[in-house]
Amino acid sequence: MAKSLYEGYGDETPKKFVREKFGDTNVYAQNAKSLLTKATGFIAAYDFTLNPYRGCQYGCSYCYAAAFSPNTKMRQDWGKWVIFKENAVKVLEKELESWYNKHPHQPPKIYMSSVTDPYQPLESKHQLTRSLLEVMLEYRPTLVIQTRSPIITRDIDYLQRFQHLRINMSIPTGSEAVRRDFEPRSPSIKARLNAIVKIKQGIDSFKGFIPKFSITITPLLPTLTTDEDAFIQKLAIADRVVIQDFHPNNHRSLVAGTRQEAENIKQRYSWWYDSEQLSYQRFKQKLLSQLPGVEIKEGKDGFGYE
Ligand code: SF4
Repeated sequence: MAKSLYEGYGDETPKKFVREKFGDTNVYAQNAKSLLTKATGFIAAYDFTLNPYRGCQYGCSYCYAAAFSPNTKMRQDWGKWVIFKENAVKVLEKELESWYNKHPHQPPKIYMSSVTDPYQPLESKHQLTRSLLEVMLEYRPTLVIQTRSPIITRDIDYLQRFQHLRINMSIPTGSEAVRRDFEPRSPSIKARLNAIVKIKQGIDSFKGFIPKFSITITPLLPTLTTDEDAFIQKLAIADRVVIQDFHPNNHRSLVAGTRQEAENIKQRYSWWYDSEQLSYQRFKQKLLSQLPGVEIKEGKDGFGYE
């Protein structure tokens, strides 16, 4: 009998089997057929999405990407497994060559990443995202990096060499207690805000290109009243703030939406969610009145490069 590709998970046959532990995460290596995927839906303004990894160690309770897991068991174990795309560098080079053969004067617009965090803890060891940045530097794409990880600061030397770069830092709440409830495996709010400061200062000292910065409050989680004003003031470090509701969950098994785990946690925050639309609108008004120099955008409108 063929050995299972994902040990303990079952329903696929291996092409290649590599397994290690990184913290409590099962890590698998696999060759990918492609790296660049045609961008659709929310990020249709881009040519491609680029996901160096499949799965995500952060395992946020509300993550819609769990719906794209290889099987039901892995969907349930979202956050406890990651597949890294071992041949990613070669595949990306080939795909970018092919793009330029067809569009010699049109750099592609790439969104990295839509269903994983390119700077999850594993990246500190495997440096896959870093290798892909190195490839992309040769091809001058418009690039958006979506992350919640301070590990991105490791790559300042590469980031400052892009000419069209936006960094979207995910910070869905201004309260650590709320973050620990909804995304206990992720970096602190302070670490994410500090990462933006560090990148700005680092690039400035390289005299390189300063990227655009968005803070994506997506989904908008509750922020305790006692933390709200201080949090909003800190958001002024970005040139754009994006807010968005939860992804609707229609409870069908393979539809990308807010996971049940988050729906359960929401029960603890009835002071916010009993009148969710009112809470959302009130927060949005505060952003508009307290951050006059920052673009405030909602949902799909906020995810473009420009
Ligand atoms: S960091 Fe992003 S991709 Fe990873 S689990 Fe959280 S929401 Fe999902």
